[in-house]
Amino acid sequence: MEPKTYDLYIGGEWIKTESYIPVFHKYSGECIAHIARAEQQHVTTAVEAAWQTFKQDKLTPFQRYQILLKASALMEERREEMELSLIREVGKTRKDAQNELDRTINTLRLSAEEAKKIHGEMIPLQSTEGSENRLGFTIRVPKGVIGAITPFNYPLLLSTHKIAPALAAGNTLVVKPATVTPIATFLLLDVLEEAGLPKGYVNIVTGAGSEVGEWLLDEERIAMYTFTGSGEVGRHIKERSGMRPVALELGNNSPNLVHHDADLELAARQTAARSFHNAGQACIAVQRIYVHEDVVEKFSELYIAHVKQLKVGNPEDPETDVGPMISEKEAKRTEEWVQEAISQGAQSLLPVKREGALFYPAVLVNTKPEMKVVCREVFAPVVTIIPYSDLEDAFSQANDSEYGLQAGIFTRDLNVAMKAARTLEYGGVVINDVSTYRNDVMPYGGVKNSGLGKEGPRYAVEEMTDERMVVINL
Ligand code: NAD
Repeated sequence: MEPKTYDLYIGGEWIKTESYIPVFHKYSGECIAHIARAEQQHVTTAVEAAWQTFKQDKLTPFQRYQILLKASALMEERREEMELSLIREVGKTRKDAQNELDRTINTLRLSAEEAKKIHGEMIPLQSTEGSENRLGFTIRVPKGVIGAITPFNYPLLLSTHKIAPALAAGNTLVVKPATVTPIATFLLLDVLEEAGLPKGYVNIVTGAGSEVGEWLLDEERIAMYTFTGSGEVGRHIKERSGMRPVALELGNNSPNLVHHDADLELAARQTAARSFHNAGQACIAVQRIYVHEDVVEKFSELYIAHVKQLKVGNPEDPETDVGPMISEKEAKRTEEWVQEAISQGAQSLLPVKREGALFYPAVLVNTKPEMKVVCREVFAPVVTIIPYSDLEDAFSQANDSEYGLQAGIFTRDLNVAMKAARTLEYGGVVINDVSTYRNDVMPYGGVKNSGLGKEGPRYAVEEMTDERMVVINL
């Protein structure tokens, strides 16, 4: 297939640039597209286009609702094209691509609904002496131009989680997708415009984060940055954004607890299924499994039996469960971390195996808290099983992390479940399922170094609007 070329998209025009960056099929290595390498002037022009569109905004909340709803229907109609694109540009398996599509369609639908719900509240000014003739209420107003920067691993869904609520709220955007997986954002743009989104609302600039991302941070007319990606870049964005608000969805090394009273078969099945999807490259993928010492042997046996059934290989094969990582470089980094842990005393319950960018599921035991595979975000198909003696020990080990996005616990005891919900220092605690459970309607976001703010259309709309107080002297 001839590689497609994506120019910059600014103010509804396709803009050519001096140079282009190749985008590769993550399994075959074939070049599937070229994307424009923006220069600083392009970024400024894109912000100007978004700003002018915002100033002239003519879309009513009902029209925004209609556009987003239609976009969700079109996404469904174009499912095959979208899934195939995700399989190629990310290396996702068919199952993972289907899951990303389902969630994207739902996120568009949820955002459409939010466009109709934006409202303020009456403030009882008249309850204060001296304000008897004052009427007070709040309205929510859009912030203006939103700068959205997205990561490689869920390029369609995570662009949607930024673009759709921003549009629902009445904002315009300049979007910078990940350099290695930019195509999905262009497909989303196409769907939105086919659904009736006028030109100028979504502007896309592509290129390296160290260039295009940095230039976006130079733009003072951007009212808010919404970012999903690594902690290092997230911290940098926060430092560069001054008084402007930022929404940061960052990393995690998700703990999942299996208590002695748990349904072990359920726990083994779910943890095995969600440790390795997307080749482990999910911010809430199961990474650390803490198992009560009385059941750790039995659990490990069941878990390994499930993991052994996973099919690793070509993501275009519908039977494949684990496809390639984003690059051979990342797979080699993973191999190094695993080998380093083994050299420091850890053991692997499965053969450690890498073929190019394919990294086979690795399950480690006898790890130590200071090993990278435990304390850092592994972002790869690597899991560690760690025994614990009692709940206090389990909570303390699970909380011993710089991160705090989501955690999971399997138990049949309601008191234990509620204690976990209160004690685990995470943005979300999932009971009797894995940390990986995410329904796009829920508030989603971390504490500690996992980020700032909440995603999920309702919560994002709130963050992407300002509350304004209105006082009327009657
Ligand atoms: P990354 O931080 O390397 O890149 C993310 C985006 O930031 C890319 O578009 C990149 O080009 C851009 N960027 C890089 N340097 C920049 C700079 N100096 N200024 C501005 N932008 C810059 O992350 P990644 O490797 O694409 O994604 C993996 C990370 O994303 C993991 O840490 C993962 O946990 C995190 N993630 C978090 C969530 C969540 O919801 N919390 C979801 C998915 C991924």
